Formats: sequence, structure tokens, C-alpha cells
Amino acid sequence: MIAEIICVGDELVLGEVLNTNAQFLAKELLSLGINSQKHTIVKDKINDIKYAINKASKTSNIIILTGGLGPTDDDITMQAVASAFDVDLTINNDALNNIEKFFQARNIQMPISNKKQALIPQGATILKNPVGTAPGIIWKFKQNKFILAFPGVPYEMTEMWIQSAKDYLKNISSKNIKIKNLKHFGIPEAKIGEKIKDLMEEDNPQVAPYVDNGTIRIRINAQDESKEKAESLLKNTEKEILKRTGRYFYGYDNDTLESVISVLLKKNNLTVSIAESCTGGLISSKLTDVSGSSKYIKLNLVTYSNEAKINMINVSEQTLIAHGAVSQDTAKEMAKGIQKLSGCDIGLGITGIAGPTGGTPEKPVGLVYIGICDNKKLNVHKVQLNSKLPRFKIKTLACDYALNYLRIFLLNEFSINKKTSIIEA
Ligand code: ATP
Ligand code: MG
Repeated sequence: MIAEIICVGDELVLGEVLNTNAQFLAKELLSLGINSQKHTIVKDKINDIKYAINKASKTSNIIILTGGLGPTDDDITMQAVASAFDVDLTINNDALNNIEKFFQARNIQMPISNKKQALIPQGATILKNPVGTAPGIIWKFKQNKFILAFPGVPYEMTEMWIQSAKDYLKNISSKNIKIKNLKHFGIPEAKIGEKIKDLMEEDNPQVAPYVDNGTIRIRINAQDESKEKAESLLKNTEKEILKRTGRYFYGYDNDTLESVISVLLKKNNLTVSIAESCTGGLISSKLTDVSGSSKYIKLNLVTYSNEAKINMINVSEQTLIAHGAVSQDTAKEMAKGIQKLSGCDIGLGITGIAGPTGGTPEKPVGLVYIGICDNKKLNVHKVQLNSKLPRFKIKTLACDYALNYLRIFLLNEFSINKKTSIIEA
């Protein structure tokens, strides 16, 4: 089953309102095993809507319209549907009753214009609107071809979808779609692309990488009439990808670097403390976004000035003079210093140049050092971010690199499964 979503409204075309209806519907359709092939946005113009419907009806089994079902003259979606299929609009008594009841319940006289909302293309069935006046429609206009219309108001549309349309479409969809996202960090998109090139050429499962800031998300979409077959197709591809991407992989769907770190720390009964400079507290903020983080975070500091680094976490003045605040040695001493001060198992120190000022040819904007230690090991990582990036981007990327190195440190030092390949630092 192939679907097309047509959203009606001048405000959408002009960019005043974001088309969240299409996003909601496409995701919901996919969960029912229905692929959306196109989203169209059209103005409140009868010929534009009609043209879009006629075009969609040639290539899609399911056409979903939203918007333009209101009582005013510019709400013309039902007229367009009727005209596209060459049928009349007729008053639907159920719909009229519902609209009248809506006003009676509120003790308001029904405006004449609202009667228009009970006009339905002949042959269509109404979709009741439990939260507004405009009913929707659902109509099998041909063998294996359906058209649905919803109001534009997002919460009315979602209520009607959940209460009636979803089950209807579930029954006509014969496909099962299984989707999983595999999230990776620390590897360029092109390199991921090389590793999974052959898999990306397959039709089923479909494999595609997407970049979300520093994270590369590989989306697997497996489809089959049988739920079990769809699941096993997905599982096999997932296994193959993970074999190739090793520890660049950090989690699934809604996982974040900080949520994965939380699991690793809790599983190993470890505590961590952070001394931040260039990230100004972002790492601390992200780590504490995870509920229950007080179990493993005791003390984090933003040691921005040299004095704070010296006085609070014991970075040596000689190190700062000889190598500078942004250096390998300072990052190491920050990690060691905060670990000692907090008494935690692991310490992390980060120092860098967030820009746009402060860079030099030897130490350009975007240069970041991350030190991580426990009682046995002290690692330091150098990251050179794109110096043209805006300050906030450098700060957030530096934060994510630090979280990722912390994750790798935990895996390398404490994971029982040493089989997965170790990421290059
Ligand atoms: P109404 O009875 O309110 O006129 P309607 O079905 O005619 O309902 P519209 O007039 O098209 O709907 O839109 C109503 C509201 O919903 C507007 O605020 C509009 O911006 C918003 N809206 C419409 N379409 C969308 C969409 N695709 N995504 C998000 N918001 C939308
Ligand atoms: Mg309207």
C-alpha cells in the first residue's frame, strides 16, 4: 500500500505554519506498514486541491488530506474531493446531528455557516470529530483506493486518527514494517557510507545513513507480509552493520550518549566527575539530563580560568605556563585533579578553543583536548573541530566528543565483551 499526504492551507505554502500533520501521519502510516511516497502542500484553491487529488489517485492507494474542512468560504477541501471524483456534495444527517450537538452542549446557537460542514461527497463515510465541529471522511472510491480527509487543526486530526482512521487502515494494510535506528558517533558519514555501501544498495531492508549533528544514524527499514520475516530481515542486517561499525555504534532509536553512559556506569557501579573549560558546563548538564544520575555524579566543576584550574583541581602552574591552558597536559591534569578532589572512580577534563576569537596557527579555533582517567589509566584525546563552526556548535560537538570518549573508556576498561573492535582514538 502506497500513500500520499496532501495538506491544504495557504499558511503552510507560505511557510507561516510548519507542516506537522504530514510528519505525524507519515510516521503513523509507516507503523501500519504503509509507505508514504509523497507529501504535497497546496493552497486553499479548489483547482490546486483537485489537481493534487487526481494526480495522487493515479499512483497511490491511500490519499490523506488535512485542512480546509472549516465553516468559512476558504474551506473548500470537500468541494475539491467531490469535484475530483465527479460526485455531488450531500448533507450527511449524522454529521449535521454531531455539529448541532457540539453547539447545544456549549449552549451556543449554531452559526448557519457550520451547516456547510455536514456536506459530504456522495458515497463517503464520515469520520466523527470528538473535539471539534468539522467531520472528516473516509471513502473507498475504487478497488484498493481510499481517500481520507481530516481537519487541519493538529489535535483534532490526531484524535480522529487515533479514534477511527488508524484501525481502519490497519485492517487494509497487509505489510509489516520494522524500523530500527543504529546510532554512531566519531566516524564521518563518508566512511560509514563506504562500510555499508553494499547494504545501502539493497531494496529490502532499506539501509540509509542520516547525520544528526555529530551522530550518524543508520536507519534500517525491513518489510514483509509476515511479521516474523520482517523482524528476521531487520535482525540480520543489524548484525551485519554492527559487525562492520564496531564501537562507533553507541545505541538505538532514542538512546543518547548520556543515557548509554548512564547504563554503563550503573552496571559497573562507577562514579564520574567532570572538570570543564571550553564546554562551560554542557557535559555536566547533559549527564544530569538522565534521571537517576545522582547515583554516579558527585561533583562537576567549570574551571574556566587558570586560577580555578590551579586552585580548585590542582593543575600545575608550570604546565599552564609551558604548554598553555589548551594542551594535552592540562587536560590530563584536569582529569586527574577532579578525580582526586571528588573521590570518584573516573575523572574527565576538557579544554579547548571555542572561538571565534582566541585561535592561533599552532592552536586553531576548534582544538580540544579531553583527558580521562581512573586509578590505573590516564588517556588524552586531541580533537580538531572545524574552526569555521559557530561557537555554540563547537561547544556542543566538543561535549559530544567528550561523552563519546567517556563511553569508549568505560567499554574498554570495564566491558566484559572485549570482542567488538576497539575504536581508533
Ligand atoms: P477550521 O475549522 O479550524 O477552519 P480546517 O480543517 O479548515 O479547520 P485549517 O483552517 O486548514 O483547518 O487549519 C486550522 C489550523 O490548523 C490553523 O491554525 C492551521 O495553521 C493549522 N494547520 C492546518 N494544517 C496544518 C498542518 N498540515 N500542520 C500543522 N498545522 C496545521
Ligand atoms: Mg479553516
